[in-house]
Amino acid sequence: MSKKINPNLTSEQESVLFEDGTEAPNTSELNHEKRDGSFHCANCGEKLFDSDTKYESGSGWPSFYQSLPDVFETKTDHLLGYARTEYHCKKCGGHHGHIFDDGPNPTGKRYCNNGVCLVFKPK
Ligand SMILES: [Zn+2]
Repeated sequence: MSKKINPNLTSEQESVLFEDGTEAPNTSELNHEKRDGSFHCANCGEKLFDSDTKYESGSGWPSFYQSLPDVFETKTDHLLGYARTEYHCKKCGGHHGHIFDDGPNPTGKRYCNNGVCLVFKPK
């Protein structure tokens, strides 16, 4: 179960994190974030991705080919009428996005993450 930890979340952040919402594509400033650093859960602060694994997928959402080890739990949803792998922050249960199989080497995975769920911390 997800639980709200950060009392300052916006209504859009709550919609994505706790109601499996999706932000509009190409709206996240993090799409263009190219500095060295790390990406953390906007709700609980858990470190989820290193900037090394971020890449430009052209999807309109911040994309990563790999998460840090053991930070997400996955489940299958059928919200769009077909199976997708959805992932949640293991620590707080917040919904972050979906994993697709069209990512680059070395994993072939694409973590398609809602930017509103992430906080970037530059090195
Ligand atoms: Zn979290």
